[in-house]
Amino acid sequence: MPSMIPKLYIIVPCYNEEEVLPITSGLFLEQLRQMTAQGKIRDDSRILFVDDGSKDHTWQIITQLSQEDPHYIGIRQSRNRGHQNALLAGMMEARDRCDITITIDCDGQDDIHAMTQMVDAYLDGSQIVYGVRSSRDTDSFFKRTTARGFYKFMGAMGVETVYDHADYRLVSSRVLREFSNFKEVNLFLRGMFPLVGFKSTCVYYERRPRMAGESKYPFSKMLQLAFNGITSLSVRPLQIIMGLGLLIALISFIGVIWSVVVALMGDAVPGWASMTCIICFIGGIQLSCIGVLGEYVGKIYLEVKGRPRYIISERTNDDQEDP
Ligand code: UDP
Ligand code: MG
Repeated sequence: MPSMIPKLYIIVPCYNEEEVLPITSGLFLEQLRQMTAQGKIRDDSRILFVDDGSKDHTWQIITQLSQEDPHYIGIRQSRNRGHQNALLAGMMEARDRCDITITIDCDGQDDIHAMTQMVDAYLDGSQIVYGVRSSRDTDSFFKRTTARGFYKFMGAMGVETVYDHADYRLVSSRVLREFSNFKEVNLFLRGMFPLVGFKSTCVYYERRPRMAGESKYPFSKMLQLAFNGITSLSVRPLQIIMGLGLLIALISFIGVIWSVVVALMGDAVPGWASMTCIICFIGGIQLSCIGVLGEYVGKIYLEVKGRPRYIISERTNDDQEDP
């Protein structure tokens, strides 16, 4: 039975963030202190940095922070594995050490103060609290439209996500214990948590510009994340190509009847252009459908190998912490 006041782990993935970490780390601690003072969380709550194999001084900064204040702890991935894997590593590390976790980016874009409302929602009985951006005014036009399109497209492809929610989220350790039975290596966390179920709610906040440093999510990575999300969580693309195949079969059937009739009437013309068009069209459709199939086969290949989803190479607190 967890005590009445929950112990919180704030999980912060960091990849090459030496510029922003010195600014935001203090803000996280301040927020932790404030929530402790308000009696919302226990004083032995922690800020857990997950260094995702940074190539700059991020890990040194994390180690230094952990020496300055016991609320800061850190783990380090053996190499860069990406945001989703870093989050998973953090959540699995925290799972048995606390009552609730909040995942948040380290760049200060997500309003740190929304954590108070998230914890309130947990105390009101929600096991998952999704942080949702109430506006995107500070994102560039390009980022805003592509991101919006991304959520719409995901929905059309059969992936249930919370609109405008990224990975700023409170998850209780009870949910995390169930979540650890989701063994897939292709991670799309924001689409997976709705599948776990439990009572959930949303908290709205304003998205701000990055406090320092540059985005580690270029358009290509975003696109990759979207396609990974779709093919990991939905088979709708397979259903769509099935439907497309049936439609083309139907049209072809009509075409066959038509051409037989024309031939019987002795009207057959050379028809080179129409033949070429049909061959090219069907060929293109077939290749793209095989591509979609291949994408799923590739996913199966990766899942079957079942390689570890994260590897922790270092810890700041090397097991002083009670598990
Ligand atoms: N990040 C990570 N591994 C990566 C890329 C990014 O852990 O390979 C972290 C990054 O340090 C940040 C968060 O994921 O805390 C979100 O990245 P970013 O702010 O660059 O993305 P954006 O907000 O521009 O979408
Ligand atoms: Mg960011």
